Amino acid sequence: MKTDILGLSRRAFEEAAGLGPGRSKALGILYKDAFAKGRFEPSGAAIAREAVAVLEAGFGLGLLEVLEVVEEEGELGTTSKALLGLADGLTVECVRIPVASRGPATLCLSSQVGCRMACAFCETGLGGLTRNLAAAEIVAQYVTVTTRLGWDIGNLVFMGMGEPLDNFEALAGALGVFLDASGPAFAQEELTVCTAGLPEGIRRLRALGYKRLNLSVSLNGPDNPTRGRLMPVGRSHDLAELAAALAAYPQRRNFTLAVNYCLIPGLNDGLEAPAGVAAFLAAAAEPGRALVNLIPYNPGSHPLGPAPTESQVEDFRLRLVAAGVQVKLRAPRGRGLMAACGQLGKGGVGKPLSCPPGQPDL
Ligand code: SF4
Repeated sequence: MKTDILGLSRRAFEEAAGLGPGRSKALGILYKDAFAKGRFEPSGAAIAREAVAVLEAGFGLGLLEVLEVVEEEGELGTTSKALLGLADGLTVECVRIPVASRGPATLCLSSQVGCRMACAFCETGLGGLTRNLAAAEIVAQYVTVTTRLGWDIGNLVFMGMGEPLDNFEALAGALGVFLDASGPAFAQEELTVCTAGLPEGIRRLRALGYKRLNLSVSLNGPDNPTRGRLMPVGRSHDLAELAAALAAYPQRRNFTLAVNYCLIPGLNDGLEAPAGVAAFLAAAAEPGRALVNLIPYNPGSHPLGPAPTESQVEDFRLRLVAAGVQVKLRAPRGRGLMAACGQLGKGGVGKPLSCPPGQPDL
């Protein structure tokens, strides 16, 4: 079986090829082209025929099939959602999110087909986990949309279908590829891992040694009972354990811990909620280093209730501010596409895709 080059760092590719240091330059060109052009064509490389045969026999490049793309115009530009087919017939979705600067967009990537975290507000969580994606399949989302759809991408956020820290080995592999200077060459600051709150996963991410990789967490409840009702992960790992894992994550000088809070009227907007959020932030991040992305709930196919009104959102925002919390109100992007937070993953574009509650503002 061929190894997908999209799941390999350049070094791993060269080692696996085993062609010796004399072929390094040619392999480097092949490697770069794989990500920049979505092509792997050893026959066009300046290497001997025997080496071409080794590469053709051992490696392939697995782009995903673009099944459907839907777009929606918004204040900041076009939000686009792509439904992509995997080799085994399953599908994943990724979303291109315009940014305020109107520069290259953010790409929200899926890490699993489905998700076993079962968050109550999330379309992906409704169906459970079908399977993990391989590192190459995570990277292939990026290569497919950039080379086949022409999407201009400047940031990546692991916040599509699935919980990235629940598929840690593949996430780590994909991060290594995305950061490879010979390949996609992203800077650590351009990547954000968003978790529903798996403390062990946060510790493992920290142990990878990246000092400037962004981290974002979905809070969604100001106390353990409320959070546990909305996010079952909160029943296994309470807020104190989660805050301790976050506090130990590298917080570089300009680091901001993005804390996503999906506002669901009547469920997590009680009088005591702002104080609970403030207490969590104080335990999770150094003073001034946490920002709450306040996200109005997007009702999916099994709504927990109506979306909050503008005045409910503003009221909660003001109460958070009064509690000393830095807040950014996230305008829903892609709601009409079901590409907004919590709406990814039911398969079929125009129906909910999935996305955890809160793409950070990058
Ligand atoms: S919000 Fe994220 S972690 Fe929760 S079920 Fe949905 S995809 Fe999984």
